[in-house]
Amino acid sequence: MVVPVFLPHSGCNERCIYCHQGYITDIGEKSFKERVDSALQGRVEPCEVGLFGGNIFGMEPASLERLFSCFDEHRGVVKSFRLSTKPVPLRDETIAILKRNGVDIIELGIPTFNDAILAAVNRAHTARDLFLAYERLGGEGFRLALQFMVGLPGESQGDIEETVANMIRLRPVYIRIYPLVVLRNTPLFALYSRGDFVPIPFDEALDRACLIYLNAMKHNIDVVNVGLTDNEMVRDMVAGGFYHPAYGFLVQSRIFLRAVEGALKRLDGPKEITVILHNNDIPLLVGHRRENLSRFAAMGLKLRWEPSGERRGAFKIVSGTQRVEASVVD
Ligand code: SF4
Repeated sequence: MVVPVFLPHSGCNERCIYCHQGYITDIGEKSFKERVDSALQGRVEPCEVGLFGGNIFGMEPASLERLFSCFDEHRGVVKSFRLSTKPVPLRDETIAILKRNGVDIIELGIPTFNDAILAAVNRAHTARDLFLAYERLGGEGFRLALQFMVGLPGESQGDIEETVANMIRLRPVYIRIYPLVVLRNTPLFALYSRGDFVPIPFDEALDRACLIYLNAMKHNIDVVNVGLTDNEMVRDMVAGGFYHPAYGFLVQSRIFLRAVEGALKRLDGPKEITVILHNNDIPLLVGHRRENLSRFAAMGLKLRWEPSGERRGAFKIVSGTQRVEASVVD
């Protein structure tokens, strides 16, 4: 059980041009200590606390000590912490504080490995900084996760392939994928309003997220989250980009669509097919608002499905006497 506590923009000495944590965390006016107490009050089962939002590595060590001291009276139930941060600045003192306080997992934000894009979105670090932090923190015994983005200004398919290659090489314990969203009152919104940033088509960004997700699946790397945390404030403040309240489902159902399309190529001109698949995969075959079914219909294909004992992600397609077996990771 991870209990999230948000630290909007703590330690963010530079603002990434797309970010407005006030909308995303929607935490109101309560102090950090009040939020800690209300998240943990009355809890008896052991839990892990997730410190999210902000850049913990950017906090002065004394402030970081004070932050952890807010948990002193809850140490009986808080067994460990995970946190998200940029990979810089990497200070010995910070690392020592995190170790002393039982931090287990560190999620490092690396929206892209393309340094020119990192500079353009004002991340104030390079891909090399990520590699250095990854090696040092791994050596110190922390488990490491990575946070990626898709749809950034100037991003190419090659950049996504580089993200995938680095993910496979670094083998994080899990990843998160965030599609770029243009939020009002951000520098990105100004660029977008002037026409200086024109997002790629939604479908293309979705395919990029799918490429990362699918490769994570193939290499047994967990994907714990896809898409921005949804709340009413975010919805009101979205001006453009790739926001969707069910983004993670869109990614998974697109992956299923592509897998079925790939398997169909192994059949000889089918007009009617039955897809035999795990019961829980049926919504992925159908798609958001039956979008996948519409695509099959547009291909002139009549489709039925049957639940079976297939493992998740695996399926069979039967058409008359023809039959193929496939899976989403094929
Ligand atoms: S994305 Fe993270 S590091 Fe960048 S401004 Fe937002 S909270 Fe700070």
